Amino acid sequence: MHRRVGYVLVLTAAFLLGWLISFTRLPATIDNAAYDWMFNLHQPAYPPAQSALLTIDEASLTSTGGRRNLRRTLARALDLVSAAKPKAIAIDLILAEPGEGDDELRAALTRVPNLVLGADIPQQGGWEWPIFRAQARAIGHVHADPDPVSRHLPLMKLQQTDRLWAICLETYRLAAQATSVLETPTDLEVGPRVIPARPDTRDLLIRYRRPGQIPRLSVRDVIESPARASLFTGKAVFVGFTAQSEVKDRLMTPMEVMMPGVEIHAHAYETIAAGDFLTEARPWVSTAACLALAVLAGLIFWRMPGWLAYAAAGVLLLAAHLLPHLLFRQGIVFPTFAPLLVAWLSVASAAAYQYFGTKRELARTEQERSRYQQAIHFVTHEMRTPLTAIQGSSELMSRYNLNPDKQKQMAQMINAESKRLARMITTFLNLERLGDGSLDLKREAFSLAEALGACVDRARAVAERKQMTIEVSRADDAPLTGDRELLEYAIYNLLTNAVKYSPAESIVTVTSERTGDKLRLSVADQGMGMDAQELKHIFDKFYRTKRAEAAGIEGTGIGLSIVQEIVRHHGGRIEVASQPGQGSCFTLILPATT
Ligand code: ADP
Repeated sequence: MHRRVGYVLVLTAAFLLGWLISFTRLPATIDNAAYDWMFNLHQPAYPPAQSALLTIDEASLTSTGGRRNLRRTLARALDLVSAAKPKAIAIDLILAEPGEGDDELRAALTRVPNLVLGADIPQQGGWEWPIFRAQARAIGHVHADPDPVSRHLPLMKLQQTDRLWAICLETYRLAAQATSVLETPTDLEVGPRVIPARPDTRDLLIRYRRPGQIPRLSVRDVIESPARASLFTGKAVFVGFTAQSEVKDRLMTPMEVMMPGVEIHAHAYETIAAGDFLTEARPWVSTAACLALAVLAGLIFWRMPGWLAYAAAGVLLLAAHLLPHLLFRQGIVFPTFAPLLVAWLSVASAAAYQYFGTKRELARTEQERSRYQQAIHFVTHEMRTPLTAIQGSSELMSRYNLNPDKQKQMAQMINAESKRLARMITTFLNLERLGDGSLDLKREAFSLAEALGACVDRARAVAERKQMTIEVSRADDAPLTGDRELLEYAIYNLLTNAVKYSPAESIVTVTSERTGDKLRLSVADQGMGMDAQELKHIFDKFYRTKRAEAAGIEGTGIGLSIVQEIVRHHGGRIEVASQPGQGSCFTLILPATT
């Protein structure tokens, strides 16, 4: 019972430790690294790209008159791209201030079929709106997640009272000919597409494709070879800077390549368009998984024997390692660190607990066995004495013609010794039967004083050998109901112990007093005594104190366990007070018959 509680406590501690550590910083770092690794390992087969990039790179800028001429250049390129009939064009440029070539650009923007312009959040907050707002069919924010690695994309950004969807989402909405983005607590719905996005974050996990999977042309390519603009036919076009001098911050992606914001939005667009989303498992799901792993580890080492448990634990650990992968392949992002830590901690602690527990148990049964053997040895030795007497007397009787007096004496001796033998056997059998509860107790009424008197008389014979005296200081009488023979055995046992564990010439004091319906019978000696640790065990079967063994006093360590059983069967209990070297006092407390 204690062992089971301890086991459950150890496993609970392992679970709590692993689970609580998962709220610290370290696991997040490890989970992110695992995410990036799985991301590259489990790249699905993507459908053909539905977007394309129109990039303004270094070469485009230098060949078309630089930043100053950008709006005119863009107007030319956009006209060429619009002619190729793209589904939509998203321009991820900050066009918040008037500049050279605005008229040309405005005219070109008017000809774009589905135009989405980007709005930025400047340092001071609020939105920085493009001056060509009138030409756009939608405005989207151009932010990406600036976390060291850009895994998420915030699909929604709120500034003061104005809320904007991400430019990739607005582009998809126009390409899918949806009028609006519908919001539910768990999703965003755009036309046919249901995008998992919880209300607290509205974040999208981007399914980045391998570099080169989204086709791209530079503005210069399009202007120099207009025929190549056919690449954009039927696609969503994302227009933005890739020139090092213009892109403020390129962000790291799980693909381990840096990307400018426009490209990140193109990848997010592909994620939405393909409809193959990654969703993060809810925190309670991972907690439940951790709990299940701890429970399984516990059951394995509780139920399975030896190597089978270790094999099963190996399978469990393997499963804990594979679980995030299997789920990732199903599009579910599951934490790696916490379940692994919980699995390892609980397997290790369950295995250690059972290993040391079994070892302790083994040592205990081994000790019990050797004590049992000692006891058997002692018993057989004890039996030999009356047997030898019986054998000798009967031999004498059969061989020699003894006179009737001698014959009678021998017969009495045989009778007495065989009775002693029978008593010994009964006692040992009773011990076993008392232990498993199959002994029928006699219920007879008798006087305590009589029973005590008989025991003291018998014990005095033993005490005399050590010149010890047994004093009965007070003897209140009271009627008792129970098994007289067994109770006498118990009292006699206490008396002989008191004699056995005391020095010669010392005194044993017996007191019996009645208080109310209780009878207290004490046997106090001036012997070797016991310490608190030893006192805890003296009623264990075959337990003997080191002190008693060191003094070379013979014993089996079962007497007190029988005494306790007997007293318990009579509805009583035993109290022991003892100090090493000061003596002991055993008190039986029994219910008196009224
Ligand atoms: P045994 O006396 O045969 O060893 P018991 O079950 O009667 O077995 O006692 C168990 C142990 O308790 C003894 O071995 C001894 O160490 C200790 N013990 C019992 N009674 C006394 C006592 N009166 N004084 C000191 N130690 C005692």
